[in-house]
Amino acid sequence: MDNKAIAKIFKFCGQLMELYNENTFRSKNMATASYKIDKLPFVAAESTVEQLTEYPGIGKSTAEKIIKLIQTGSFDDLDKYMLKTPKGILEMLSIKGLGPKKIQVIWHELEIETVGELLYACNENRLVQAKGFGLKTQEEIRKAIEFSNANQGLFLYAKAENQAKILRDYLRTYFPDAQVEYSGEFRRKCEIISLVELLSSVPLEQITIALEKTDTEYTIVESSEDTITLTGPQGLKYRIKYVPKERFAFTLFMTTASAEHLENLKNLDKEILPLKTEEEIYKGLGLDYIPPELREGLQEVYWSQKQCIPTLITFSDLKGALHNHSTYSDGVHTLEQMALYCKDNLGLEYFGICDHSKTAVYAHGLPVEKVLEQWNEITALNEKLAPFKIFKGIESDILQDGSLDYDDAILSKFDFVVASIHSNFRMDEQKATERLITAIENPYTTILGHPTARLLLSRAGYPIDYKKVIDACAANQVVLEINANPLRLDLDWRWHQYAISKGVLLSINPDAHRTEGLLDMKYGVHVARKGGLSAKHCLNAFSLSEIDAFFTKRKAEKMI
Ligand SMILES: [Zn+2]
Ligand SMILES: [Zn+2]
Repeated sequence: MDNKAIAKIFKFCGQLMELYNENTFRSKNMATASYKIDKLPFVAAESTVEQLTEYPGIGKSTAEKIIKLIQTGSFDDLDKYMLKTPKGILEMLSIKGLGPKKIQVIWHELEIETVGELLYACNENRLVQAKGFGLKTQEEIRKAIEFSNANQGLFLYAKAENQAKILRDYLRTYFPDAQVEYSGEFRRKCEIISLVELLSSVPLEQITIALEKTDTEYTIVESSEDTITLTGPQGLKYRIKYVPKERFAFTLFMTTASAEHLENLKNLDKEILPLKTEEEIYKGLGLDYIPPELREGLQEVYWSQKQCIPTLITFSDLKGALHNHSTYSDGVHTLEQMALYCKDNLGLEYFGICDHSKTAVYAHGLPVEKVLEQWNEITALNEKLAPFKIFKGIESDILQDGSLDYDDAILSKFDFVVASIHSNFRMDEQKATERLITAIENPYTTILGHPTARLLLSRAGYPIDYKKVIDACAANQVVLEINANPLRLDLDWRWHQYAISKGVLLSINPDAHRTEGLLDMKYGVHVARKGGLSAKHCLNAFSLSEIDAFFTKRKAEKMI
């Protein structure tokens, strides 16, 4: 352990003490010790207590702590504070721009305990309302978190996408006659990206020269005969593979496949031939073409053999956006702005507003008077925007016992209700499953929102028995949400087929808190395609008259 590392730990311990409002003299002492250790002219790890105390500014207790730290990796004060602090709060201390004072507010007032939740709260514009935070701080924190995630080498698809496109488009422009294509997990549109693979028909020497000429900074970290690996400005990793044109389709085919997909193809006992297109290669195996997103080793090879690959949903199949927020609760844009964006920018037929319900105080959940006020505005807007329609919805909190948030009298007047869990996440599988099923059995629940509350790369979400939850949705005609926020993508695509096979409809919901958030439906479509969803099983691919009829019929059947 070098002096720098020791100094860092002392500083960290001082911050922890401050976090607990420990007497300022003691926490300042830690900070001073940290500073002194950093400036020591000799190696602390090779010194004794006596040698250390000879240096001005280092007292006996500091010296003892240093020795203990070197010998055991910790010391008493540090242990004490580490033990009582949640892991996520400890992580926050390492985020640039977040000191103990701000973390106190985040932890105690906003009740946020993980970095992932904090990132989500930034994206939902929730920090600005807290004491000592402004829009600028919120933005800085968001950037710092994204940066630290990136340092771990993993990126949300949505974050990798722009970067990947910059490099691909640059190479395509630089070599207009060449083939440059995405491959691997990025081409399969996986929700988390560790590596952007590109195939290029241009030899690598020329690629290297082209890379030197861009304004974007790429660092080559590894190169072999036919591949180079590089990192981009935000730490995203790329691998460019040189493939001569005559083997391009074959290599694209081989490198796009997940290991499981390839395994399933090998089990067919037919040789994979290097033909001219991917279609021909599949045909050579006696198979229908399989879209890249599906090449994950689930049922796709079987479907392909049986010629029943679903017609995968596309963004243009979507006719409306359900589950969105506005300035009534914690959104950035007004109800009218959100609706107009759907109508004019996205060419949709309808918009579902689902502001937070009254229990979600942190998100300005709506008391009944506010709900009534919103309904009046919706009626007026529906006259103004017709035939475009705004549906009256609510994102009702699922309370601890699984019940919903308003009285039946109010619940019955919504066109639809999205029921979601937003608090008390610490549940075992049985408790979480029961809580969800109680909500699913509630006749007012139309859609189950983000079923596990996971935040990708940040929070695992509570464990659920997927089959039981999906079966309950089937039994109660409840629609399952595919929350399209790139941090959520929840219901996980690996469960889409099970839901579809049980006759459960899925809904690609943006959960937008601002107009641009509506575009997130694109990411929902990506994972829905991975799950094998076609438009006919997707609620918001219903036309306005179809979904209107669906809501009305459902209410009649439930007698609500
Ligand atoms: Zn929610
Ligand atoms: Zn929401």
